[in-house]
Amino acid sequence: MSNTEILMERNAQYARSAEEPGDLTSPELKGLMLLTCADRRVDPAYVLGIRPNEALILRNPGGRVTPSIPQSLAVLASVGPAMGVSASELVIMHHTDCGLSYLGPEHSSMLAGYLGVSEDELASKDFADPVASVHSDIDLLRASALDWRSLLVSGLVYDVASRRAELVAPPAQLG
Ligand SMILES: [Zn+2]
Repeated sequence: MSNTEILMERNAQYARSAEEPGDLTSPELKGLMLLTCADRRVDPAYVLGIRPNEALILRNPGGRVTPSIPQSLAVLASVGPAMGVSASELVIMHHTDCGLSYLGPEHSSMLAGYLGVSEDELASKDFADPVASVHSDIDLLRASALDWRSLLVSGLVYDVASRRAELVAPPAQLG
């Protein structure tokens, strides 16, 4: 079977099931957004036990605060209340052994464009140091024009070898 055939079959099973996504929601997590890497090993459903309909999840290469992330957060801040979903807290999770750390100088131009920096500034992006990259990305959000100063932001680093996540930046308001 092809990937799409498998997905269609799984969707048919899901659609037949009586469970509404809302029924699966835990009351424990509220107003949560999560930004993390697209790496398959970092799926927050497994790593953090996020259940269906529990969080707004943004994933990109590295889980980085690229120029589009503040824009996405601003849109979510508007869409959320319109749909009756609050979004008041953001968790940024980076991880060890991230694929971005494997990219060599031949990819500098592409990476610089992705992150919205010059090639000379790429070294400051700390691809091999997720603790540093989480902190610098939170600083980047704080410095952005994001009109959402009450947003609670925290940072996690997930170790793909030990499977343990560590809180490296406790929740603090952006403003
Ligand atoms: Zn990664």
